[in-house]
Amino acid sequence: MDFITVKARAKLNLSLDVKAKRPDGYHEVCMVMQTIALHDVVSLEKTERGLEVTCNNPKIPMGNGNIAYRAAQIMVEKYEINSGIKITIDKRIPVAAGLAGGSADAAAVLKGINALFSLGLQQHELMDVGKCIGADVPFCIKGGTVLAEGIGEILTELVPLPEMSIVLVTPKIEVPTAWVYNNLDLNMIQSRPNTYAIINAVEKRDINALAKNMINVLETVTVPRYGIIEEIKTRLVNLGAAGSIMSGSGPSVFGVFTDAQKAKNAYSEMKDDRWDCFLTHAEKS
Ligand code: ATP
Repeated sequence: MDFITVKARAKLNLSLDVKAKRPDGYHEVCMVMQTIALHDVVSLEKTERGLEVTCNNPKIPMGNGNIAYRAAQIMVEKYEINSGIKITIDKRIPVAAGLAGGSADAAAVLKGINALFSLGLQQHELMDVGKCIGADVPFCIKGGTVLAEGIGEILTELVPLPEMSIVLVTPKIEVPTAWVYNNLDLNMIQSRPNTYAIINAVEKRDINALAKNMINVLETVTVPRYGIIEEIKTRLVNLGAAGSIMSGSGPSVFGVFTDAQKAKNAYSEMKDDRWDCFLTHAEKS
């Protein structure tokens, strides 16, 4: 095999709580993450020598500024791969949007190299390599519905959610992750997600209960600064979403729907020049 194509699926945060800021600058979190169908397509091809990354989105660094390049570099060194690799990313996941698009590409590269060079690595071994690349990479390798704790590295697999329609809206604004975390004041958080209630809802496959409990504490930073986030949340709920929150550090907002037809309708009603809109669904891996 000289060529392989891997789907790099985006993630959403069904909840996101920040428990503490650690002296080393990391944050202790507790969040439920969900893989969704929206994906980049990552192709890997064996070449004579060297690593090369190209992408159809000019905003994304080529060479070693790209997280996919770093993922490939680590694999080549660690497993003494004596070949060049050309990586082509067809970018469909909005960039710097709270959807872990870069981490998903890195995870796809690890899986792709494992298959392309018949390394025979198990999922947990790929996840260990992923840890060195980025906090969300192990989750992107595992996929599905997962509770993440610690600084995001302690993952507990939850039962997969039933088919759940999602309308995802990414406003065309830049919200740097570092700005969000630096401005987070833990004393200002009035409502935190009840992670137990969320896990319970996931186990009972009760989307309404899940949706009612979705909270992202990072909204305490982004919502007062960017009115568009609250506007999207309100519109999604008015269009029939069972619940709507921001994903990660934003600015993407999503609504979950129990009724696929209502989701379709909301998707067409939400079209607007100020944001990108996607009709998608929860995926098991
Ligand atoms: P984070 O919360 O870690 O910033 P995100 O999901 O919000 O993640 P990404 O789409 O992963 O954001 O992009 C974060 C940054 O990483 C961008 O500024 C982008 O230029 C850079 N980057 C490097 N490689 C990639 C890649 N393969 N795909 C997307 N972004 C990449």
